Amino acid sequence: MIQVSNLSKVFPDGTQALRDVSVSIPDGDFVAVIGLSGAGKSTFLRCLNRLVDPSGGAIEVDGTDVARLRGRSLQRYRRTVGFIFQQFNLVTRLSVLDNVLSGRLGYHPTWRGMLALYTDRDYELARAAIREVGLAGKEDTRVDQLSGGQQQRVAIARAMTQEPELILADEPMASLDPRLSDVILGLLRDYNQKRGVTVLVNIHVLELAKRYAKRVIAFNKGHIVFDGPVAELDGDLETTIYAGSLEAL
Ligand code: ADP
Repeated sequence: MIQVSNLSKVFPDGTQALRDVSVSIPDGDFVAVIGLSGAGKSTFLRCLNRLVDPSGGAIEVDGTDVARLRGRSLQRYRRTVGFIFQQFNLVTRLSVLDNVLSGRLGYHPTWRGMLALYTDRDYELARAAIREVGLAGKEDTRVDQLSGGQQQRVAIARAMTQEPELILADEPMASLDPRLSDVILGLLRDYNQKRGVTVLVNIHVLELAKRYAKRVIAFNKGHIVFDGPVAELDGDLETTIYAGSLEAL
């Protein structure tokens, strides 16, 4: 269970990216986070795994106040959260298997990770995840030999290998051919349904959000302007969510 209360974020340059955001997300939800570019979607996701430090408010995940975690306890929390980036964030000169295995690094002392002394179980988890994303046979291929869509699947396999309790995906289709959106969102939805892992995915394209998520959280200028079932989104709400889009252009 994620419980966010009065979360705010002001960046050092004075930009207020999140304002008084409160939301609760039960375990196993598949949530689309929508809104214009600059609305605060990415900052919201990054606060949830502490890639960004909140300026105020609280984030409780299963009773732990994530906003206050430091050092080892922050590292322990982070390994339970898979983060999927727009630009994949892979080590492209390494193989698919090495990238996916790195999802296990949070479970080992630093020296062990540096020497790449992964356990048999780590290898089993990594190989199973590679199969699950449809890349069996590519284990030894260098990531820079793969297409963008395949690279994002490697990133998803790496997140799965973490055995996460939560997956955060920040516009995971944004750098890909739109035809690949269904592959990426389909993988995330299947994983959510099979494993019951909570998934939050930022989606710029409303139609995709409607197709995949049951629940939508919409941001506009750092505020939540809608939080509810996709079925309740109507034309008026969509106008509110996308208000200011001409300014943004
Ligand atoms: P979205 O994901 O909805 O496109 P973001 O969360 O990336 O929105 O950005 C929200 C606001 O915060 C925007 O005005 C953006 O320019 C600003 N912002 C994001 N990251 C930083 C940063 N590191 N420093 C200053 N401003 C930032």
